[in-house]
Amino acid sequence: MRFDHRTALITGAGSGIGQATAKILAEHGVDLALLDINADGLAATEAMLAHTGRKVLTVVCDVADHASVDAALGKVREAFPRIDILINNAGIFKDNIMKFHLTDPETWERRWRINVEGTMYITHSLLPAMLEQGYGRIVNLASPAGVYGIVNMVDYSATKGAILSFTKALAKETTPFGVNVTSVSPGMINPVRKPNDGTYRGVSGLPEECAEMIAFLASDNAVHVSGQDYQVDGCRKKM
Ligand code: NAD
Repeated sequence: MRFDHRTALITGAGSGIGQATAKILAEHGVDLALLDINADGLAATEAMLAHTGRKVLTVVCDVADHASVDAALGKVREAFPRIDILINNAGIFKDNIMKFHLTDPETWERRWRINVEGTMYITHSLLPAMLEQGYGRIVNLASPAGVYGIVNMVDYSATKGAILSFTKALAKETTPFGVNVTSVSPGMINPVRKPNDGTYRGVSGLPEECAEMIAFLASDNAVHVSGQDYQVDGCRKKM
């Protein structure tokens, strides 16, 4: 994968797929602005990247809060002259797994603000500069929940369906100007490998196995790739 002196901003970089993506990009020479609501997670990611020698800025930020994002992006702009790559990875999905009629509106509103509006607001903030520089890669984390719908995760499925539509529509506006927009739908990704009969592969995937796809889509190589979703799910048994 080629990266020509690129800088990336990754949200939710304090654990899991975001952290693994930060590691792969740094190892390929990319400088990084890393945002997460979890300060300890960000510190762990920064320590993990020390061997790469890349410039790394970590900023604690709640992507659901516009003021928090504005403050974080102010620090990012002071540290880096440009952002070439945006990975909208921050998301919540492990809570509130139950039938939709038993969920409460406060939970969906919080999830919607993080998973959808967080992605939209950061993208809206960084996009003008990407369009002006004539280069950008935006990779959004969607989900098989958005593609197929997952039982007991109805409000989460709705947020990821929104990300799929956002990705496809935005790509049509920005691809003519060199800003490619894609999404990745991970399936059954766990920090440690586990047996998993929800995939034909028979096991869960590791964060780095998803991050490899994200990194390719974020790379200079992905020049003719935009407006599509890429499922990284071990050949999921559809549900
Ligand atoms: P994770 O929980 O390990 O990582 C998510 C990160 O986002 C965490 O570091 C968390 O602190 C951060 N975050 C949460 N709320 C935030 C906020 N308000 N502001 C800033 N940061 C916040 O999860 P993961 O498995 O690495 O998932 C990453 C993305 O991939 C998510 O968008 C998730 O919905 C999506 N996804 C994951 C899977 C999977 O199998 N793991 C499947 C489908 C989709």
